[in-house]
This record gives sequence, structure tokens and C-alpha cells, in this order.
Amino acid sequence: MSEGKRVLAFVAHPDDAEILCAGTLIKLHQLGWEVHIATATAGDCGTLSLSSTEISQQRKQEATDAAALINAKYHCLEELDGKVCYSESTLNKVYSLFREVCPTIVLTHSELDYMMDHVEVAKLARAASFIHSAPNVSTTPCRYQASVPHLYYCDSVGGTDIYGKALPYSNYVDIAGEMTLKTQMLLCHKSQDEWLREYHGVDEYVSSMQAQCRERGTECKAQYAEGFIQHLGHGYPSDDILSKLFNENEEICHAV
Ligand SMILES: [Zn+2]
Repeated sequence: MSEGKRVLAFVAHPDDAEILCAGTLIKLHQLGWEVHIATATAGDCGTLSLSSTEISQQRKQEATDAAALINAKYHCLEELDGKVCYSESTLNKVYSLFREVCPTIVLTHSELDYMMDHVEVAKLARAASFIHSAPNVSTTPCRYQASVPHLYYCDSVGGTDIYGKALPYSNYVDIAGEMTLKTQMLLCHKSQDEWLREYHGVDEYVSSMQAQCRERGTECKAQYAEGFIQHLGHGYPSDDILSKLFNENEEICHAV
């Protein structure tokens, strides 16, 4: 049905995809791509007052609601906040997810992100991208003919690596036309919006996401953009599919 047009955003926590790559997911959805958003955890530490079970249920529903705005499917691997590990048990869950989705594009965190759950997810996504299609790696059947997908690392919050240097973006996707819907998706995460408002006293949740996209935009002459870095290691597709998909409409822009 989707003829190989399947994108998986595999991130650590509910709301990470909405902050880092939802504009690009919206554009792919508009081009007829099947969109999947997966989180390693249900966000069980994102609260000051609820139990882990209560907040996890709430956040999974919020993530499902956000995904539904672009007809995407939400998956949760039920790992725990602050405890995501590159381990055999987690890899098995990730291999199953990848074989169920058979993505041809994967978006994940930067391996130099500030948050260790994000770093571990980047490693898990990289491992699964490479080997999930091997027959003996998992008992979960592959839904489609599987192969190594195009792998892109997303921006990090703040746009820098752990040494304070700007990330070396290989792609900027112009998302000016998608900002309203991206913001609506982020606002589905009501528990986090409210928590941050209570904690910091200002509506930083949406404004910081918008400021980051504006900053990426200034780097490529767009009003708003999302930045990515393509993984080009041996065995991965080396053609830049994001540029190919969006170039025709001049919706990808280049560093100035
Ligand atoms: Zn996160």
C-alpha cells in the first residue's frame, strides 16, 4: 500500500519527536508516507505529583493523540526514563519494532545529544537499522521486504553537542508551512506543557521549540526549519532521500 514509503521516528520520550522532527514527519505524511512514531519510554519521570503508572498512561495517550493528527501510529517500548540501555533485552524490542514497521527512513536522536536516554536510543536505532532484516536476529516476522533504511540524526535541544559545538547538519528541512500543525502536535502533550508552566512560570514548552526551529531557519534562509545529519557509514544508503523528496519543491534549504 505504501510502496516502501514508511518513516519511523524512533526517539526516547513522548514529545521528543514533536520537538525535533514533527515538521518533517508532517511533510512526509503529505507526500503519502506511512508515519510511525516510537518512544523507548512512556515518560514515567515527567511529573512532580503523579505516580509512574498514572503519568505513563497519560503520556502514552498524549503521544497517541499527537500522532493521530498526521494519521501516524504510536509505539511505546515501555522502557523507563533515565534507564534506557543499549542492552540485549532492549535491542530485542527494537528489532521487533523495526521488523513490524520495515522503515525506509529512520529519524532518531544525535549520538552526541546532552541526554543519555537519547544517546542510547541513537545507538539502538543505528544497530537496528543495520541488522533488523537479518532472518535470525528476531522471531518477529518482517511485514515487508526489509532493508537498511536511510538513517538521519535529529537536532538536539540547544543545537549543540556535548562539547558545546554546533551540530554538523547535513540537511535543513523548511517547515514554515508546517509550524502550526507541529505546534498543535506538541500541545497534545498537556502534562508536559502544564508541568513546565508550573515549574518555570512561563509557557516555555512551545516557545522554546519554536525558537529552535527559527534558529535552524536562520541558518538556511527559511522562517522555520529542522536540522538533520545523515548517517553515511558502510552499508547504509548514501543517497540523500530527504533532499531528493523535498528539493523539487525547494522545501529543503542549505546552510548559508
Ligand atoms: Zn527526551
